[in-house]
Amino acid sequence: MASFVDEIMAQVKAKNPMEKEFHQAVTEVAESVALVYDKFPEFRKAKVFERMVEPERVIMFRVSWVDDKGEIQINRGFRIQMNSAIGPYKGGLRFHPSVTLGVLKFLAFEQVFKNSLTTLPMGGAKGGSDFDPKGKSDGEVMRFCQNFMNELFRHIGHDTDVPAGDIGVGGREIGFLFGQYKKLANQFTGVLTGKGPAWGGALIRPEATGYGATYFAAEMLATRGEKLEGKTVLVSGSGNVAQYTVEKVNDLGGKVVTLSDSSGYVYDEAGIDAKKLKFIMELKNERRGRIKEYADAFPGVVYTPVDPNLGYNPLWNHKADVAFPSATQNEINEQDAANMVRNGVICVAEGANMPTTLEGVRVFLDAGILYAPGKAANAGGVAVSGLEMSQNSMRLPWTREEGDNRLRGIMKSIHKTCATTAEQFGTPGNYVNGANIGGFMKVGRAMLDQGVV
Ligand code: NDP
Repeated sequence: MASFVDEIMAQVKAKNPMEKEFHQAVTEVAESVALVYDKFPEFRKAKVFERMVEPERVIMFRVSWVDDKGEIQINRGFRIQMNSAIGPYKGGLRFHPSVTLGVLKFLAFEQVFKNSLTTLPMGGAKGGSDFDPKGKSDGEVMRFCQNFMNELFRHIGHDTDVPAGDIGVGGREIGFLFGQYKKLANQFTGVLTGKGPAWGGALIRPEATGYGATYFAAEMLATRGEKLEGKTVLVSGSGNVAQYTVEKVNDLGGKVVTLSDSSGYVYDEAGIDAKKLKFIMELKNERRGRIKEYADAFPGVVYTPVDPNLGYNPLWNHKADVAFPSATQNEINEQDAANMVRNGVICVAEGANMPTTLEGVRVFLDAGILYAPGKAANAGGVAVSGLEMSQNSMRLPWTREEGDNRLRGIMKSIHKTCATTAEQFGTPGNYVNGANIGGFMKVGRAMLDQGVV
């Protein structure tokens, strides 16, 4: 096993230098695929994984736009079309200053396995820009989105590639992007998901990732006769995924005590109830303010600013039962994972993509806690995007209840795939192997069927 992983990683690192997040994502999956190659040599012979680590297409482009002061600004746009073996490319767009080619390649790679796990026919992609929407006026965000789409539109389409939102890309940005696509293509098609409900959006899409991660955690807890009811819960981030995780955890009787943004985190021992969540939604989605204001608004809340020299994140160092990392990649390191296990966390469901370092994952697996990687736990978002694509093709909207029921069914089925696959490959309870292998098998088989392309 070591030799396959060492060999593939040497190739990936040589071909993709400096892309450390991409190396990390590939290493984690390669360790699982080694088990598949041992059991099914036809995949090894056809170099299926070796082909999967090479994007089918990478598009990189200039985005120039004019800010409110009349200054010309230049950003870089990307779309990574990773794998289309089982359906059109599908994956979000991220607007954040930390966006690089390597970050988007890791996200596109993860997306291939995630989309396969949903059981829906979607290939994997990711895109975005180093543009920072923070502190920009609506007019500036609109002009940026329009110029971004001026190039992207020729590479996407409802049967080719269907982008969605991610960090920094919510309903406002999807609206501007869709408006420009429609103008350029002269077509009203379901080319983006996460649209407004009045113009083709699925009713449950904003909630889907957070609700889905919570349903997945409930499924994992049930395998040990446990429930979210009465549990103390840590959530990081305060954006789309974090907000709807809090809402669903509250619905199921849990108590969320933390939220964060890139400046710091809040600890609220009394719990973030529906009224306080409404404040967060207004703060983050409308006023676009900082999480510190939550501590100023409610008594008994402690705010702690980020301290980059600390070596660990104090958010993960509170007594709790369940954790939903829902901000960004590598927000849980080895020390954080050890702190969580020591403080009583028995279940981690990743709302974010790859929030745990490889060393942190090892701590969770060694401790034998319930640990679900993002590609399984946060697949609810793209699953409902897949449903939005079907609705757009049929021109038939579903009700909120239908969407939520389907989402719950899909999360249940992803959980079952992960659990049974882990068992079949001799690692029961290992959701990392379950998700990686479960996602790999369907895409791998399609690649075998479709020849060397
Ligand atoms: P949002 O932009 O709505 O929120 C992101 C949150 O994470 C904000 O609170 C933000 O703080 C914080 N954050 C972002 N970057 C950093 C950073 N470098 N350090 C610390 N905090 C940071 O994004 P989403 O909620 O949509 O996405 C959150 C995670 O979930 C991402 O990993 C994304 O890939 C993943 N995901 C999202 C899906 C979706 O449907 N939206 C689907 C599947 C996965 P601040 O406001 O200060 O920037």
